[in-house]
Amino acid sequence: MKKSKRNTEIPLTDEELDFVKESISSQRIDRSKLPHYDNSEKARFFRYIKKNKAFACICVLLAVCMVTLLSLCVAFAVKKISSRIMDKSDYTIIIGDSSYKVKYKTAVRDGVLYIDMYKIAKYAEMTITGSDTSVKFTASKNNYLRFEDKSSTAVISGSMVDLGGTAVVTKDTCEIPYDFLDKVIGSKNGLKLSLDNDTNTVKIQRRMYKTEDKDAMLPVEILLNADSFEAIISIVRPSQVKPEKDYGYSIDVSPYLANIVPLDAERYLLLANKQTPLGADYKPSDLVKLECKTADNRELYLSYDAARALQAMMLAMSADGVKDVSVTSAYRAYSRQKELFEGYVKDHMAEGMTEEQAIEAALEYSARAGTSEHQTGLCIDFITSTMRELDESFENTKAFEWLSANAYKYGFILRYPADKVDTTGYKYEPWHYRFVGRDAAEEIYNSGLCFEEYLTLN
Ligand SMILES: [Zn+2]
Repeated sequence: MKKSKRNTEIPLTDEELDFVKESISSQRIDRSKLPHYDNSEKARFFRYIKKNKAFACICVLLAVCMVTLLSLCVAFAVKKISSRIMDKSDYTIIIGDSSYKVKYKTAVRDGVLYIDMYKIAKYAEMTITGSDTSVKFTASKNNYLRFEDKSSTAVISGSMVDLGGTAVVTKDTCEIPYDFLDKVIGSKNGLKLSLDNDTNTVKIQRRMYKTEDKDAMLPVEILLNADSFEAIISIVRPSQVKPEKDYGYSIDVSPYLANIVPLDAERYLLLANKQTPLGADYKPSDLVKLECKTADNRELYLSYDAARALQAMMLAMSADGVKDVSVTSAYRAYSRQKELFEGYVKDHMAEGMTEEQAIEAALEYSARAGTSEHQTGLCIDFITSTMRELDESFENTKAFEWLSANAYKYGFILRYPADKVDTTGYKYEPWHYRFVGRDAAEEIYNSGLCFEEYLTLN
């Protein structure tokens, strides 16, 4: 038997029936209150919803959640894809057998890719020395790289070079531009560097060579020698530091200010005199070749900050029209001092003096090894074209006049003044200037004290 379709009217409930009856008896029929007879799927669904409000709420909530989740997924995918397109994915740094990841934002600053020299130096077995803001990596044959925090220059085995970026040095990291390292260590040295720009992968491996007698492989030396970085030497970028007080500088000293007023100024108060000699093995670790004019174009060396401060001072002197002046002496090694002194003694003995007399005579103008301030790498002697040797005639030069008024602004002091011979133990030397950093130099200049007196008071 065929069942009749249920698309007819649904029976009225007792309540509805009562309502209809009452409406008929009272002759008023409010149609809006009549039950609906639509029995389609849709109508039944909405009637069900109306009865089950909680269920409806959950449905709506679920739908909202789904939409949110979906839009988040889309946003994430878009971001991933766009970063791929813009080549901003993280870097993988492979050093030897190990590797690590660096976020793009950390690795690249101002369009320059940075790399941690610390990890490379450890891998390459370089000696690491330094402080929280300055670090030195020493490789074969005492060749070294030195970086300072926030500095745009580096020192490579005595020469200052432009970094092409700004070093960030902390206690155990040293971020430097990859391009710099590639140029410095690059082709000729014991490290092989490669950068894959498609995958943002940096690979650093030691070069090995086969030994003749055995089959063993040995790493190639890391030289860091001058030949490999000559091409990138020089241009020092001006830093943002401005002098805090008007010292009347006649050049823009901002690139040199960090050296003229060094943070660790105390280390430049090193005393070396006849009573306080330096040891035979004392040698500053940061000697750099002077860039300024030297007598007979000699290669002279000073401690890094002193060399930079001197460079600024020489540029200023020249800018003020004092051109006839050059540096004739700077760092002098213990061995050289010993050789010089013994030469003088020998000369005097050849003139007929006893050894004792000869030593006494030599001591009047030269220092015994270890007692010369030149071993500190912090002082220089100036000379002019009119002078045949270092003598008091320097006092009558334009250079002396300029230095007397301005040297302290660059951190230098007249080390052996005429009125302090008894205290310094040295005769008047108008040509000999010593770097102590600007703060100490200014105090010494204003107080009229000599270096020994200043140290005693401080
Ligand atoms: Zn001197």
